[in-house]
This record gives sequence, C-alpha cells and structure tokens, in this order.
Amino acid sequence: MPENTLPKYQHYIDGEAVAPDSGEYLPTENPFSGETWALVARGNARDADAAVAAADRAFETGAWPALTPSERGRLLWKLGDLIVANAERLALIEQRDNGKLIVEVVAQVKYMGDYFKYYAGLADKVQSSVIPTDKKGVFAYTRYEAKGVVAIITPWNSPLTLTSWKLAPALAAGCTAVIKPSEFTSASMVEFAALFAEAGFPKGVVNVVTGLGAEVGQALVTHPKVVHIGFTGGSEAGRKIYEIAARNFKTVTLELGGKSPNIVFDDADLDQAVKGVVSGIFAATGQSCQAGSRLLVQRSIHDAFVAKLIEFVKTAKLGDPSQPDTQIGPVATRPQFEKVMSYIGIAKAEGATCVLGGVSRPDLGAGLFVEPTIFTNVRNDMRIAQEEVFGPVLSVIPFDDEEEAIRIGNDVNYGLAGAVWTRSLKRAMLLTDKLKAGTVWVNNYRATSFTSPFGGYKESGIGRESGTETIKEYLHTKCVWISSDLDVPNPFVRR
Ligand code: NAD
Repeated sequence: MPENTLPKYQHYIDGEAVAPDSGEYLPTENPFSGETWALVARGNARDADAAVAAADRAFETGAWPALTPSERGRLLWKLGDLIVANAERLALIEQRDNGKLIVEVVAQVKYMGDYFKYYAGLADKVQSSVIPTDKKGVFAYTRYEAKGVVAIITPWNSPLTLTSWKLAPALAAGCTAVIKPSEFTSASMVEFAALFAEAGFPKGVVNVVTGLGAEVGQALVTHPKVVHIGFTGGSEAGRKIYEIAARNFKTVTLELGGKSPNIVFDDADLDQAVKGVVSGIFAATGQSCQAGSRLLVQRSIHDAFVAKLIEFVKTAKLGDPSQPDTQIGPVATRPQFEKVMSYIGIAKAEGATCVLGGVSRPDLGAGLFVEPTIFTNVRNDMRIAQEEVFGPVLSVIPFDDEEEAIRIGNDVNYGLAGAVWTRSLKRAMLLTDKLKAGTVWVNNYRATSFTSPFGGYKESGIGRESGTETIKEYLHTKCVWISSDLDVPNPFVRR
C-alpha cells in the first residue's frame, strides 16, 4: 500500500489524538505478510513532556483525585466489560503487529477484562492500620497514598497484557499513567487507550506516547514528574532504566528476561511432561519471558524422552497466525529473527547437536519463520544455555539426581521461572524450595493469573506484578501521628 494511504496512529494525550511534535511516523509491519500496514507517531521528549504534564494535571487536580476508591473501582470494572466487548478487534490489531496466534491473542485480551475487574475489587480494600505504639498520648496510623505519575514501558510480545499488569493496579491505587509501547507494536495500545474515555475515566488519567526507547522511553524515565517506572523488556534496557531511576530516587518494577529450566524426572508422567515442555518453549514461538528454554532431563530417560519430544514437535503446523489451525507463527520482527538465527549458529559452533529444526523457512510468509529447534549435548556453561534467545530454540541438558538438577537449574544469571515434572511429592517440595525463581510450576508450565504474583530473582527483575501485594508498588505509606494530649512538652525542659 502506498504510504500516504496507510492508517496513521497518533499519540493519545489528555483524552485527544495528538500528532507527533516531529511530524514523523514509524512504519508498523505485519511479520507474516511483511506488509507495512500502518504508521505510528514517532514521539520525542516534547511529546513525552506533554503527556506527563497531562497525567500530572489529572493526578493533582480535577475529577480523578476527587473519586473515592470505590468509584475508581467502578470505572475499572466498566473498562473490564469494554475490553471483553472489544477483545476480537484489539486482538486482531495486536496479532497483525507481532504475528502471535490469533486464538492465543483473543484469549489473552479477553482475560485482561478479568484482570481489570480484579483490581476494580481491590481499589477500596487497601486498608490503613492503627499502630500500637510505645508513645503515650498519641494515636498513630498508616494511610496509603497514590504515588503520582507512572511511566509504563512495554515490549512487543504481549503488548496489551503486559501493560495491563501495571496499569490496572496503578489506576486502582489512584495513580495516573503515561504508556510507551514497543515501537514494533504500538497500534493496539492507541486503540485500547480510547476505551478509557468510553468507560468514563477523566481525561489525562491514561496517556500513550509512541516511538523509540531512546527517544520517548528515555525521556519518560528521566522526567522529574514521573515517580515510578513499570518496565517489561530486556535486561539491557532494564539495567539502563534502573540506573537512571536510582540517580533520581524513582521506584521501579522491572520484569526482565529468563532462561528457565523445565526439569523432568524419570518418575514423571512423560506424556504430560512432553506437552508441558512443548508449550513451555514453542508457544508464542518461544518469544515469552517465561519460556522453558532449558530442558533438564534425568539421564536414565534422556534418549527416550528426547525421541518422544521430537515426534510430538514434528506434528506442529507452521503458518499464518491469523488462521485458527496454525500452531506456530513467525518470529515477530526482523531483528529478532536475526538474533534467533545467530544463536542457532552459536550453538552449533559451541558443539551442541541439532536434533530438530535449526533452519529458517524462507518459503513461509515473509521469511521470518524458524523451525522449532532442539539441541542436545548442551553443557550449561554454553552461551545457548546461559543467554536468552527469545525464540523457538530448546537446549537439552542431562542430569543424574536432584542435587545436580538444582545446581544446573540455578546456574544462570536469570531467575524468572522453572518447572518440575515428577510424581514424588518429596522431590517436588525439594525442588520448589531450592529453585531460585519467582515462579515454580509442578507438573504444569505457564500458568499465570491476576491472582498470583509474578516476577524474577536475580537479573530477571525487581518487584512483583499481579496479586494483591502489587498495588503497594504504586502507593506511598504515610504514617500519621495524632496527639491526644494537648499539652505539648517544652523541648527545653528535660523530664
Ligand atoms: P526491549 O528491552 O528492547 O524493549 C522494551 C521496551 O523498552 C520497548 O518499549 C523499548 O522501546 C523500550 N526501551 C528500550 N530501551 C530503552 C531505554 N534505554 N529507556 C527507556 N525505554 C527503553 O525488549 P523487547 O525486545 O521489546 O522485548 C523482549 C524482552 O522482553 C525479552 O528480554 C523478554 O524476556 C522481556 N520480557 C519480559 C517479561 C517478564 O514479565 N519478565 C515479559 C515479556 C518480555
């Protein structure tokens, strides 16, 4: 399509579509067809500043701070209904941008409705507490206050969902937000933002500025009016953001990468384990922070299990992600495709054995397909076992006993997730105790919910999302001391 006929997505600031200060737009591509299907505003620091100013006005004055927590809850609930009503439309836009399976994205977006409703319920349940104190003649209590303007910066793999993980608790807490979606997948976020006005949120409470990390993301992170940064993305950007935030004493939640172990013992139900391993690494074409990218298999069943796994993965149907029977879609972006292919080369050069895939499929779509790939003879000190590939590439590593499984499982810089497949409760309890990861699954992989905290140990991040505790990330705790004795002691007289 000629560029001048493409739909143009503007920023969403103070309840209005706003053209970028630069007048420039970035192309947004469908990774399956290779077509540029829309243009998104290329923001700069001035756009970021306008959005933060709108969010700050909405936080300090007007209708938003005047709402009671219950009233905020009602708006969030209404938004939840609107999300479900618009799920198919939003999902179609999102999958056009990141090439994820349409069936998966529709389910994810519908589930976001429940997410906002959960935090709708929580908005008026954050309770202050009376503090029993050692001081006489005073009454002391805590109250929770919304922190202020929150910047939300998200990646391309699950743009709407990962934004909701931050936005729902932030709004329930009474904060306002400026969202910077990934430059590869901004369109669904701009469409989503329009639902806030429909739900009745005051203008300026939620704003979206699109563009590049170095141009808009950086401007938000350094902005003096931004008090908290909710970031999901790679460890490299996470580290930069954390350094800048530290310099200015801003708080952060960082959800970063992973290299999660999927650990299969010889007493496991192997048919179930195969399905769990496959969904762990090949769902979303491996482009998932929680991907079980290291398969640790007990040596006694190694060969049989790998054979079973290969048989199962061979049946996967690669193709058009907008078709309901497709099982594996393309890699989401050209740079990511090149990264995945380069790691396949690294694994081969390191001496790992490619037992399945290991090649791209230029014949499919726009050529961003990588065949589901399995490497055996991987040592845990190889780069393919240590570094996040974020693609459909599984490294298989044998182990002898529990102790070795725990040692290898923990021997990475990441600590996002892990799973254990066994029928032994004792084994399961030992592994869940010893694995240094924010989530450990037993005989399942990938379960997440708005009810349950998610986040990482080590370089996988800081803080937790989902669950009731998360709302505290967006609240200040204030302690109030009230004197019940009007006789203020004379500070110059020692008692
Ligand atoms: P990325 O770090 O390149 O970008 C993420 C976002 O940060 C984008 O919006 C980008 O524009 C912005 N950004 C980049 N540099 C920035 C900077 N210096 N200042 C401010 N903003 C900046 O990540 P990506 O390639 O979009 O996503 C893939 C990564 O996300 C993977 O490493 C994956 O593990 C991680 N991820 C983590 C989780 C989790 O919950 N832990 C979930 C999904 C993805």
